[in-house]
Amino acid sequence: MTVLSRPVGGFLELLFPSLCVTCEQPVEPGHHLCDACGFSLSPANLGNWVAQVTTGAGLDGVWSAFWFDDRLQRAIHALKYEGRTGMAVDLMRYACAESPAAQLQQAYDVLIPVPLHRTKLRERGYNQSLLLAHALGEAWELPVDPKAVRRRQWTVSQTGLTAGERIGNMAGSFECRLSAEGTRALLIDDVVTTGATASACAQVLKGAGYSHVGVFSIATPPTER
Ligand SMILES: [Zn+2]
Repeated sequence: MTVLSRPVGGFLELLFPSLCVTCEQPVEPGHHLCDACGFSLSPANLGNWVAQVTTGAGLDGVWSAFWFDDRLQRAIHALKYEGRTGMAVDLMRYACAESPAAQLQQAYDVLIPVPLHRTKLRERGYNQSLLLAHALGEAWELPVDPKAVRRRQWTVSQTGLTAGERIGNMAGSFECRLSAEGTRALLIDDVVTTGATASACAQVLKGAGYSHVGVFSIATPPTER
C-alpha cells in the first residue's frame, strides 16, 4: 500500500487534540482516525456495483470501499462539518487498502471530485470530495481536475427525497465546459447512495467526450443494496 504523506495541517487542525474520533484513543498529530478503527471498517466487497445502483446513467463503474456505519458516519461528519480536513487522508488511506481500489489505479486518467455548490463551499470553506481526490491522487500519482464539472444551480438537499425525486433534482445541475475526448475519469465522493449525483456528473462528462466515467466513494449504505 502506498503511504500517504501528511499535508501541513491548517489552523483548525491545531485546535483538535490528537484523538481518534471514534474510539478517542491517542493518534499522531494531524491524524483523526486510529489504525485499529481504520483497518476494522467494514469492507463493502461489492466489486463494480453499477448494475445495482438505482441511478447509473452515464456511469461505467461504481466502487465503494466500505459499508456506511456508525464509525464512518462519525468520521465523515468530522471531515465535512468539523473542519477536520486531514480526515480525508486518513479515510483514503484505509479505503486504498480495500480490494476495489487496486483495480482502479490503472483504469483511469484523471480524478474528478463531485463538486459542491458555491453556497455550500462558502459555508464549509472546502469541498470534502476534493480533499479525498487529492489524497487519492497523491497515492496513485494521478492528476486531480476540480474544474471539470461545476454545479450550475443550487439543488435542494437530497435527504428525504425518493429516488425519482433525486433524479429530477439532479437533472441539469451540472455542466462541463471543456471537452476531453477519450479521457477516463474517476469521480470521487464521500458517500454514494442512489448514484443520482454521480450519474448527473457522468452524463455531462460523457457529453464532453470522456470515454469512460466511474465513481469511487469511501462508503455506501448497506440498506441501499
Ligand atoms: Zn480509533
